[in-house]
Amino acid sequence: MSTKLRIVLCLKQIKTSPRIRADGSQASAAFTFNPDDETALESALTLRDQHAVHITALTMGPPSAETVLREALARGCDDAVLITSSVLAGSDTLATARTLADAVRTLSPDLIICGRRASDGDTGQVPPMLAGILGVPFIPDLLKFDLSDSPPAVVTFARAEPLRRPSIMGLRRARSTAVRIIAPDAGYPSPTRVVRSTVLAREVRRPRILTPADALTLLMKPVGADETPEVQPAQICEEAACMVVDAPIPLAFTLGYPVEPVSLPALPVRESALFLAGRIRRDAPAVVLAPATSRCRAVLPYTAALLGCGMTADCTGLRMEQGELVQIRPAFGGDVLAEIVTSTRPVIATVRVPDAARKVLTGGAGLGSRGMFERLIRIADRLGMECCATRAAVDLGYADYARQLGQSGRIVTPALYAGIGVSGAPQHLAGIHGGTRLSVNIDRTAPILDVSDYAVLMRAEDVLAEWEELLGL
Ligand SMILES: Cc1cc2nc3c(=O)[nH]c(=O)nc-3n(C[C@H](O)[C@H](O)[C@H](O)COP(=O)(O)OP(=O)(O)OC[C@H]3O[C@@H](n4cnc5c(N)ncnc54)[C@H](O)[C@@H]3O)c2cc1C
Repeated sequence: MSTKLRIVLCLKQIKTSPRIRADGSQASAAFTFNPDDETALESALTLRDQHAVHITALTMGPPSAETVLREALARGCDDAVLITSSVLAGSDTLATARTLADAVRTLSPDLIICGRRASDGDTGQVPPMLAGILGVPFIPDLLKFDLSDSPPAVVTFARAEPLRRPSIMGLRRARSTAVRIIAPDAGYPSPTRVVRSTVLAREVRRPRILTPADALTLLMKPVGADETPEVQPAQICEEAACMVVDAPIPLAFTLGYPVEPVSLPALPVRESALFLAGRIRRDAPAVVLAPATSRCRAVLPYTAALLGCGMTADCTGLRMEQGELVQIRPAFGGDVLAEIVTSTRPVIATVRVPDAARKVLTGGAGLGSRGMFERLIRIADRLGMECCATRAAVDLGYADYARQLGQSGRIVTPALYAGIGVSGAPQHLAGIHGGTRLSVNIDRTAPILDVSDYAVLMRAEDVLAEWEELLGL
């Protein structure tokens, strides 16, 4: 019998939006690797470079999802399993995690590696739910994994080297290896259901062009305390409780339910989830809410899986409608608001709570280096602004994740936002609600200019140098 350590690598095939070609025609949607799964795959292969490891790539999806498995085989995975059946279409995160868990059990791995989140649904719930169903620890956002003391666990990696290219041998193996097919006759029920999707109208502003000195005057102007938009207040009141986990959540989110605060113990994800599941079973709240922090994004889905409940991630609003609690969350990069109801009780959700930053100075990939970002931090400090970042700036290593604004980062409702070298991707803009906006960009066609009130159309390095001189930095 083989003594190799067995890894199951969970991958997801993602459908990209259709692209418009240069001649105006529309190219059909392409299927690609989920970006975070590239990190997961490279992390698994790096472990295999150092240890005796057998890697099985596993995916659930339509028959076309076999492509991602062949990509994984070409790069060095040993075998591959595809779970595919029409009964699985439309599975939510709990149904998906249960289906994956069934397959994982048949493979008896020592370690299960998942991508942090899939770029389409963007909930990040399947890995912790999978761990909860399997009853193993969940260790998110690893930088490095030490195999010597690994229990069976589900892990995700925060970053890895860029995904290696396939070798000639690998390409041959990918062609000749048979992918094992699992075709279930029945799927698990999905406790969450999208009841409505609203496409959001895009606002268009025409920015006034400023010099760097005028832009600095704008940034130095004090902002009033009363300009932050309010979250809409509660509508209903019932006798059952709303359990609020680990933080104050604005009363508007608790919809008039009596609030029962619960603090998570300072324990790993699995133990915290076992504690929380115990409290939920004992107190039977109607609703369980937690802020969408990285810790609660791990503990709440694990808990939901222990209880057999569905859950919704990253809600920006909650509403009662005909006795149903409707959970509102952005989808498709913030272009669409999805309204979701849950059939299991309690209703469990993480909510995105806007933080208190009043003036934010945000650095993007256009800054070009970590050194430039550090200069931006000094300027922000001098101006009494909070220095934030785009995901690209975080991925490039210019800034820490804690600074990231957007769909998968923090959400702010500032009176004044300035974006330096930021293109204005919908996923970034999803994190900025309201306020006056200034952009510094070399590209006058950058999408962020359509949502800016003021713009400096110059190189970031020149603008920062002029601000530093004017501020005596
Ligand atoms: C599921 C998912 C979730 C995501 N979540 C987030 C999120 O939470 N937050 C987020 O920010 N992104 C998020 N993204 C990524 C998002 O789609 C964009 O890739 C990202 O916001 C781009 O960051 P950027 O504007 O810094 O970089 P780019 O898009 O590369 O833009 C750089 C800009 O800098 C300008 N520029 C270049 N050089 C200079 C210069 N010398 N001086 C001035 N300007 C210059 C360019 O013209 C360009 O407009 C997410 C993506 C996915 C798929």
